[in-house]
Amino acid sequence: MNISTHFLMVSLLLSAPTFAQNGSDQFKEFIGHTKADTRREFKVPNITGYKTLKADFHVHTFYTDGQLTPEERVREAWRDGLDVIAITDHNWNQTINTAYDRAAKTAAEYGINLIKAVEYTDSKPIGHINFLFVEDPNSYWGKNLKPDAAIEKAAKEGAFIIYNHPGWPDKNSSLSDFHKKHLAAKRIHAMEVFNAAEFYPVVIDYCKEYKLAPVGASDIHASSEKLYNTEREFRPTTFVFAKENTLESLKEAVKAQRTIAYAYNNLAGDEKLLREFVLSALDIEIVNKKEDKAVYLIKNNSSISFTLQNPDQFHINLPAGKTARISISNKNLTDKYDLLNCHTSSKSNLQLSFTDLISKF
Ligand SMILES: [Zn+2]
Ligand SMILES: [Zn+2]
Repeated sequence: MNISTHFLMVSLLLSAPTFAQNGSDQFKEFIGHTKADTRREFKVPNITGYKTLKADFHVHTFYTDGQLTPEERVREAWRDGLDVIAITDHNWNQTINTAYDRAAKTAAEYGINLIKAVEYTDSKPIGHINFLFVEDPNSYWGKNLKPDAAIEKAAKEGAFIIYNHPGWPDKNSSLSDFHKKHLAAKRIHAMEVFNAAEFYPVVIDYCKEYKLAPVGASDIHASSEKLYNTEREFRPTTFVFAKENTLESLKEAVKAQRTIAYAYNNLAGDEKLLREFVLSALDIEIVNKKEDKAVYLIKNNSSISFTLQNPDQFHINLPAGKTARISISNKNLTDKYDLLNCHTSSKSNLQLSFTDLISKF
């Protein structure tokens, strides 16, 4: 491509559709109408020593009950700003490996890390369980593979095992004897706190009690464009704090419970991780310092907005990608604010003061 063609291409991408300069009064063609393949910037901070990977561990294709091809699922994940997906078709047939193979080619082209997986599917109380990092997803097919045998087989091959949507479809997220047994044997490593538009607050407590990784997942069946207002919201996702952007690092991170679950601008997880994550997203600058008070400029570098509330119900909003200008008296600097969208248990939120923000870690 020569330089002038390059400039032409750039201007085509930036400008509204127009007519080509050439052509005649017999024929002209609209140009510049082709939509570029673009990725939305899903901005989340890294934390000390780790890179934050954005992962969707629960994705369906048209090989079971999803609506898109495996290739489309990967391209869509890239456009949604993700780094990692697991294709988790149901163990209803033996086409899961084919779905993975088709997705793998596109994943390599787009730089998406793809996890080989399957959703073991039974009715409650067993429910649905994702087995990630399995060698041969098709081998989990068949009604003869009973739940105990399936989860033991997955655990034996070192899978990362997630109990999915525990509150679906009966709105009851309590643990059955089956789950308690396999939790005690460390065969369940994670649970979905968020699945699509559902939130199971009690799962944050289970994560603490059983040392599980909290997960947010889309469980996407239709297209992302149909399901989400992609101009202003991101799909439910898991933030994974990994040493590197590789599957091996990712597996190490999830097994060490270094995750935060995300959905609809809400975060859930371990208090220490959440605290470092939120503080890493914010830059604070003090301007206009007076004897008894000062003005603080708080820049939120992430795609997640934060809402703070103090015991007097006073609210501070820190919108995604913007700088908030806030005047605070010195005597209020140590007041604790609840971050209403950051959940550290079923009943509590992350708490931060201005002193925490200023001193950071
Ligand atoms: Zn399911
Ligand atoms: Zn599913």
